Amino acid sequence: MQHRAGMLLITYALLFIACQATPEAREEITSPPPATETLLEGNTSTPEEEAEFTAQRMRLVEGIISAGITDPAVIKAMQTVPRHKFVLPEYLDQAYANHALPIGYGQTISQPYIVALMTEALDLEASDKVLEIGTGSGYQAAVLAEIVEQVYTVEIIGALAEQAAERLNALGYHNVEVMHGDGYFGWEEHAPFDAIIVTAAPDHVPPPLLAQLADGARMVIPVGPPGGYQELWLIERHGDEFTTTSLGGVIFVPLTREVREK
Ligand code: SAH
Repeated sequence: MQHRAGMLLITYALLFIACQATPEAREEITSPPPATETLLEGNTSTPEEEAEFTAQRMRLVEGIISAGITDPAVIKAMQTVPRHKFVLPEYLDQAYANHALPIGYGQTISQPYIVALMTEALDLEASDKVLEIGTGSGYQAAVLAEIVEQVYTVEIIGALAEQAAERLNALGYHNVEVMHGDGYFGWEEHAPFDAIIVTAAPDHVPPPLLAQLADGARMVIPVGPPGGYQELWLIERHGDEFTTTSLGGVIFVPLTREVREK
């Protein structure tokens, strides 16, 4: 029994997120402030180091393909986005390991395989407009931005929202807009979306997110009790009908409801 639980744990994606917060406040990050103690400091590398990171990234993506990811657009995006620019300097040597890593503020950058799995499940087209809830480092947003025309992403921790906006801008991802706020409410102003991806786990599907799905759109969302296993759901909208398919068990950090600065 214990052995089985251990095996399950190994196969599950672990994304540790812990949060606290203060009531609703939403603020779009339009002109990010200059870098201070941000992850961008991990960016400076020699051409030789860059070549080594690229080689590591290609190996990581080979592993992701072996694990069952087939969508060419997703594979290309995973081969392109420099994950080493999204991790803290002290984790640079693990930038292309297939696991989640701390990014500060008690949060994590997601496991690459889970990023690929969720992105593939969205079945994206180049002309799509996508909403992400839980910007974190901005890595998932960059992967989406490689595939679709426009990405909107919402982050509840102000410092992370600012850093991600700054990083994405510096890396040339000008088709991503970041907002500091509670993603439970989605981003009404830009709705409806062709796809919604939620990278923190609520205990129920937020009705505002369902309402912001376009007809024929898809949402990928981990749903379950905080601190427990969640089910990764693929939800598809057909008119006013919603179908749900399970993509398996996962562990994500909880979707929190209090907007905080740090
Ligand atoms: N997608 C991120 C990793 C997700 S970690 C990446 O690629 O790096 C989950 C993120 O969700 C955390 O940064 C956490 O602060 C954020 N979060 C939690 N609850 C939220 C909410 N209600 N609205 C928006 N973001 C939320």
